[in-house]
Amino acid sequence: MPVPYELLGRLFVYLAVLVFLVTALALLIGAYSFRRHRIMFPNFVLFMLYLFYSPAKWICRVFYIKEALVDDILIEFRNALLLDRFKHVTERRAVILPQCMRHPECRARCDPIIGYECKQCGKCDIGRIVEAAEKYDFKVFVVPGGSFVRKILKVYKPGSCLGVACRTELTESMQEVAKIVPVQGVCLLRDGCYDTRADVDEVIRKMKMCDMGGAVDDGCAGKDGGEVAAIGGSVDEDGLADCEKDLNDADSDGFRGFQRMPKEARRSGDDV
Ligand code: SF4
Repeated sequence: MPVPYELLGRLFVYLAVLVFLVTALALLIGAYSFRRHRIMFPNFVLFMLYLFYSPAKWICRVFYIKEALVDDILIEFRNALLLDRFKHVTERRAVILPQCMRHPECRARCDPIIGYECKQCGKCDIGRIVEAAEKYDFKVFVVPGGSFVRKILKVYKPGSCLGVACRTELTESMQEVAKIVPVQGVCLLRDGCYDTRADVDEVIRKMKMCDMGGAVDDGCAGKDGGEVAAIGGSVDEDGLADCEKDLNDADSDGFRGFQRMPKEARRSGDDV
């Protein structure tokens, strides 16, 4: 029987078009969610963008959209989906930081099990995070590479993880870690594998959220669209009540308010 090349060719083309359309739809929903600060169809968007990660980036390139949007969507959707579970974990909470955040003159020793041991010399942001982690009962790991994260999961067995990394690394790691424990991610503001910077306030905010059993500003917009009380200052109880209500409403609808996004991530969304 002759091989139906023409039929196979047509099927391939139809399949490619279908993948293109469905991936573009997932991107559109993700971008719209960015603008509205609400997630929509999270499981569909996460599934499609992880499965067709490269095609999604290609679509962004073709339409002159920043490729980083794909990672931003994946990170923020994952953050929003796992926030509830993350903030109610009370034991063995871990913060995982990349070693590139260290000051170039850092003298911290690298332990083969726990990574770099920060001396809190004050030369880089890690010292501030370590100080806050002690206060909010998180264990900090400053890791020399992505594969070290697997070691931490195996040896330390954390109950939850808060990770800081560049977009692509964070997207990959969060997918892996989320299979085991609730995870939250914060993107580096300045990457490049050397003397990198993170939004330290955002990292501390996420830790503080756990300390208060989640009763801290999630950065979600109130009904009037205004931002609820900022972390670090006195917490506006009315604002929190609105925020909590919004989150509950979102839960019941299968949606959830976006968390406050890093400035760069917001910028990427605005560029769409
Ligand atoms: S604060 Fe910690 S990580 Fe940063 S330079 Fe000092 S010892 Fe190194």
